[in-house]
Amino acid sequence: MSDLSSLICDRIRDVPDYPQPGVMFKDITPLLADPAVFTAVVDELAGAYDVDKIVGIEARGFILAAPVAYRAGAGFVPIRKKGKLPSETLEESYDLEYGSATIEVHRDAFTEGDRVLIVDDVLATGGTAEATVELVRRAGAEVVGVAVLMELAFLKGRERLAGVDLRSLVIV
Ligand code: AMP
Repeated sequence: MSDLSSLICDRIRDVPDYPQPGVMFKDITPLLADPAVFTAVVDELAGAYDVDKIVGIEARGFILAAPVAYRAGAGFVPIRKKGKLPSETLEESYDLEYGSATIEVHRDAFTEGDRVLIVDDVLATGGTAEATVELVRRAGAEVVGVAVLMELAFLKGRERLAGVDLRSLVIV
């Protein structure tokens, strides 16, 4: 494991049975509160891609994606849960363990052909990232990659992102 990966691991807290029994929640707030590790993560992601826009997935993805965009000199685009964006949107629904979820992006968020990096904190089943890739493409942009702090390999989310460059700073 690289130095950065082990620093990230040390700063992500496991919270058992949150938000429901059986889920091991990966809490990134200790990492965000550590200026050295937070800065190292942002610099690592900002330096690794040549993109026009960084997409952040609500809500923890916003916290990571916005400083990456700033550092990379790219724009920031929010992907939000349905009903939160004020202007005209495109939407994409995907299945959850119980029920479904819908995410949206502003229809005019991208310029045709924009190169885009999608950022989130955790890749679990991959449903959210898969739907985001689809949404970004439908909005006319090119997905250059998906980057997450932590990938939960046992949930096989990577398999839902076939053909997409997925970078996980930590895989557990
Ligand atoms: P999924 O669509 O199953 O890949 O879930 C990914 C989304 O749900 C991300 O936006 C994560 O923030 C959140 N998430 C899923 N599982 C966890 C977990 N165990 N700990 C923290 N966040 C999670």
